[in-house]
Amino acid sequence: MPLDHETFDVIVVGGGPAGSTAAAFVAMQGYRVLLLEREASPIYKIGESLLPPTIHGICAMLGVSDEIKNAGFVRKLGGTFQWGKSKEPWTFSWTQSPRFQTSTSYAYQVERMKFDLILLNNARRKGVDVRERHRVLGPALEDGKVAGVEILDDAGEHRIVRCSYVIDASGSTSALARHVSERVGSPFFRNIAVFGYYLNGKRMPEPCSGNIFCAAFDRGWFWYIPLSPTLTSVGAVIGEEYSDILQQGPAAALADLIAGCGSIRDMLSNATRVPEGPYGEVRVRKDYSYCHAKFWRPGLVVIGDAACFVDPVFSSGVHLATYSGLLAARSVNTLLGGSLSEERVFTEFERRYRREYTYFHDFLVSFYDMDQDLNSYYWAARKVTKASGVGHEVFLQLVGGIAGSGERLYASDREFIQALQGIGRRFGPIQDSGDAESHNGVSGPSSLVEVPLLFADGLIPSRDGFQWTEPRGSKSVHQLLDSGLPVKRAV
Ligand code: FAD
Repeated sequence: MPLDHETFDVIVVGGGPAGSTAAAFVAMQGYRVLLLEREASPIYKIGESLLPPTIHGICAMLGVSDEIKNAGFVRKLGGTFQWGKSKEPWTFSWTQSPRFQTSTSYAYQVERMKFDLILLNNARRKGVDVRERHRVLGPALEDGKVAGVEILDDAGEHRIVRCSYVIDASGSTSALARHVSERVGSPFFRNIAVFGYYLNGKRMPEPCSGNIFCAAFDRGWFWYIPLSPTLTSVGAVIGEEYSDILQQGPAAALADLIAGCGSIRDMLSNATRVPEGPYGEVRVRKDYSYCHAKFWRPGLVVIGDAACFVDPVFSSGVHLATYSGLLAARSVNTLLGGSLSEERVFTEFERRYRREYTYFHDFLVSFYDMDQDLNSYYWAARKVTKASGVGHEVFLQLVGGIAGSGERLYASDREFIQALQGIGRRFGPIQDSGDAESHNGVSGPSSLVEVPLLFADGLIPSRDGFQWTEPRGSKSVHQLLDSGLPVKRAV
């Protein structure tokens, strides 16, 4: 196969949220990044309900906060669930948690064609060479190391493009991930999703009108996501034992399922299904809950849906995709900078990423037990995270995507600096030169603070958040907790 004359520092495969995030964070460090996307934008995707860290953490670091704010997305304060023993709907809101400051206690419900394009265009602006209609066929190996990719370009030419590192963000159909490790399907979540779009569905009363509504029924559960004042995304997640319903075709199956769920039937009583365009199709997805045994090998790291995904009831997909994009970019930036070994930086990546995924996965196993009450779900959140706080608070952190990373969200530099001062007081020095004063005037990741050291022998984020660095003397959260000092875990 012909070899392309160009070489890059990094090739990112896939222009979804994971790929655009990772590519931009690497390009922002001055490296030459090529992003290859199989389709042409805008690309329809499912996965419309987001979590606060994506909006106030990742999007702020990427510099797209204003664009996201002005895009007209529906503001999501939390979720309303008809789920568990009691048949009465219950609501959680991130405003109830002190860990989500008032100004960061919400996310958005997004039309993915718009959201993904904002992130992809931002990557372009940050210097990423984005090429659409370029399909990656597989890895190009040199001495057992991944040293590029084989592609089919937009002119139908096959060739090899070389680079120092490949980031695979090509989603559930990845052609690269199986070259890293085996994909292990979840034995527990073997469901089928059937989904479409409706006009003029009802809205829940304020302040819940922008919430995701999840309603359990005898064959599974529904999501009901308001995407605009008139457009609603509606999907049924059913057990595979009910797959016969699909024999009549997806649209008739969805109508049948809606008829069998009283609350969704009522919300849609005056609504009509969108008849045409990208929202006119009723789609079916299955086999979407899995996790790869390992997320990297020399020369190649796998992120987002290419690495893992679990049932969508708590909207974790885009959060895991963008968070893993940040973690992988840190590892690649550090590796290319030459300060730490590949093993060291990707071990940190994989531990942090796997921890966040596992929190969602393990909690969802308990949450799928419909015979429980709310307190049991709170207890499950504490058990999974091993946190000692109040159950409701731990639950809010877990489903808000800040339990695994220990993140705390801040809206402004001022809050960020105050937060660091707080960390300094409680934990002592957080990194080699990372005391509160030295952060005055930073214009970096002002809205995302992570627990600096998650693992006793691990690494910490650099001051600007774009690389890893050795902790040099700082203590892990666990060491501090074990030391008996009067420290709070929630930082
Ligand atoms: P993707 O968004 O899938 O992007 C991958 C990109 O790679 C695509 O653009 C694709 O065209 C490109 N690509 C693929 N192969 C190649 C190739 N060979 N060469 C080049 N490019 C390639 N998440 C949420 O956060 N909230 C939700 O409410 C939610 N609901 C969901 C409901 C269902 C039924 C399912 C199945 C998932 C849901 N998700 C949800 C998950 C969410 O869809 C994904 O987690 C998210 O889109 C992952 O982002 P990504 O960037 O990893 O992958």
